[in-house]
Amino acid sequence: MNAEIIAVGSELLLGQINNTNARYISSGLAEIGIDVHFQTVVGDNPARLDEAIRIGEKRADLLIFTGGLGPTKDDLTKETVARHVGTGLVHDGEALRSIAAWFERMGRPMTDNNRKQALVLDGSVVLENRHGMAPGMLATAGGIHYLLMPGPPKEMEPMFTEQAKPLLAKLAGHGGPIVSRVLRFYGIGEAELEHRLADLLDNQTNPTLAPLASDGEVTIRLTAKADTQEEATILLDRSETDVREIVGEFMYGYDDETLVSKAASLLIGNGLTISAAESLTAGLFMAELAEQPGISAALAGGAVTYTAEAKTAQLGIPAEFLGEHGIVSEATAAAMASSVLAKFSTDIGVGLTGAAGPDPHAGQPGGTVWIAIARRGGTLETKQLLLSGMRNTNRIRAVKSALHLLIRMIGGKTVPEN
Ligand code: ATP
Ligand code: MG
Repeated sequence: MNAEIIAVGSELLLGQINNTNARYISSGLAEIGIDVHFQTVVGDNPARLDEAIRIGEKRADLLIFTGGLGPTKDDLTKETVARHVGTGLVHDGEALRSIAAWFERMGRPMTDNNRKQALVLDGSVVLENRHGMAPGMLATAGGIHYLLMPGPPKEMEPMFTEQAKPLLAKLAGHGGPIVSRVLRFYGIGEAELEHRLADLLDNQTNPTLAPLASDGEVTIRLTAKADTQEEATILLDRSETDVREIVGEFMYGYDDETLVSKAASLLIGNGLTISAAESLTAGLFMAELAEQPGISAALAGGAVTYTAEAKTAQLGIPAEFLGEHGIVSEATAAAMASSVLAKFSTDIGVGLTGAAGPDPHAGQPGGTVWIAIARRGGTLETKQLLLSGMRNTNRIRAVKSALHLLIRMIGGKTVPEN
């Protein structure tokens, strides 16, 4: 089965919003083995939408629409699809009740165009909208499936994942569970990872392996189809073992884990406290950690010491020391880490200094970063990065590398970075 996604909305064509719906649906379809050959965007115009449907029907078995299910005049998707396939629209009792109940709760009168939102294609399977009013629907006519969902991502995304996806998986001929697992890597580029896994990637069938790179990290999504959950788990375990045999040293986590969530859970789980002295990242490292629930058990505080003077005044690093070694240096990063650890009496102290770029700073080319992590008792690890990104990308990369170094230190795993 192959699908075409038709995103309806003039705001998409005007460049006012990103077509995140298409991205979301495409990645969900990949997980259930439905290929997407085309993504189309069309404005709120019935003639052009009709034309998009006509073209889509020639090249796809499944047309997925988002947008234009609302109560206003420009919301015309289901009217257009109904006219196109020659079916009528009928009120869905369930949807009508839930829309009426909403107005009742709000103490507001329900208008006719709100009743219009409860209209669905006659004979379709209705998908409940648990986060809004307009229901979705899946209709079949002339051997083609039409899935209509609302535009707002907060309504569409759960409707698609919870209700539409299982229905589509069944239509695509697979009744058993489809289970995914994401393996997360750091310190290896996408090209390098794909190169090393070339044999596995070339011979994949079930599970499928899908590498993806973003923000300096790489993930591999393993997706297994099986008759039972247990069988799927066995398939995933086996595939994970194959992958880890080759690039396991770079793997740091699973699924929704991130470098920062992993670092936070290791800190909290091991009862360790941390502080940071930040120069080029100016608090970004601590701000990232602070987003993690429960981090107050671990994060004591720290200092943003941007200038040389601040490093001397706040961290007690002598001006002569900074003059001798340079502000962007291994020695300074180490001194910052040790000093902040002592000042905040924590188990771990992190020092971050560098030239964020694009211009050189303190005699070092833009993108030069030094990270140091000191542990109570004297162990110290340092790392240099030579980055080539934009200023902010470099700052974010510096934070990620520091988190990665931290994970490696606490987790005791050897996860080298290249
Ligand atoms: P509503 O009931 O809110 O009118 P609707 O189903 O009629 O919903 P639209 O009017 O087309 O949907 O879009 C409503 C909003 O949903 C848009 O303003 C936009 O914020 C968001 N949206 C629509 N389509 C997309 C898309 N393809 N990707 C991301 N967001 C979208
Ligand atoms: Mg609308």
